Amino acid sequence: MSKVPTKIDQGAATPRTVLARLEAGNARFVAGGVSDRDWAAEVAATASGQFPLAAFVSCIDSRVPPEIVFDLGLGEAFAARTAGNVVDDDVLGSLEFAAAIAGVKVIVVLGHTACGAVKGACDGAELEHLTGLLAKITPAVQDVTGETAPGSGDPELVTKVVGRHVERMVVELTDRSETLRALVDQQRLAVVGAIYDLESATVTWMGSSPNR
Ligand SMILES: [Zn+2]
Repeated sequence: MSKVPTKIDQGAATPRTVLARLEAGNARFVAGGVSDRDWAAEVAATASGQFPLAAFVSCIDSRVPPEIVFDLGLGEAFAARTAGNVVDDDVLGSLEFAAAIAGVKVIVVLGHTACGAVKGACDGAELEHLTGLLAKITPAVQDVTGETAPGSGDPELVTKVVGRHVERMVVELTDRSETLRALVDQQRLAVVGAIYDLESATVTWMGSSPNR
């Protein structure tokens, strides 16, 4: 039976041990052997407080709920989800809370293969507020292709843009937030990128943090 993280667990955790926990959780999910959970017991154990270990910036895609693909229970992780795992000021503020106040040891920027938002950015799609969101992915499109809207017909190109966009978001977190940068410098926090594969359910780590 799984157990929710306690204050003692959080205090003993390091970026390295949390990353190992996430890797093991995804391996269980891939193998079809997720933890046996007593959700009512987890509700009772977390009602008076939380001592989470990780935070995700991930896509709203219905196929990539981070808690499920990493086999996590209640009280283990924060999840900030936007289309295309785009970071904006409100996401940054949420992560500053997660890391500096709530004490998570790892922030994972989690992209995924065949991301519809990345495809939309590659196509130069426009729709009311979505237009501004996709514009935050366009720099990755330009990095990979040298163009702003090359089209999304080539799956390999989309995958490359997904990876480049995750790299850019990882850098943005510590470039734009002094709070997060200080925690990383003190090795109290790791910020890492990862890509979830919709077909295999596996997470590939990008190894972009100094703590890995
Ligand atoms: Zn997506």
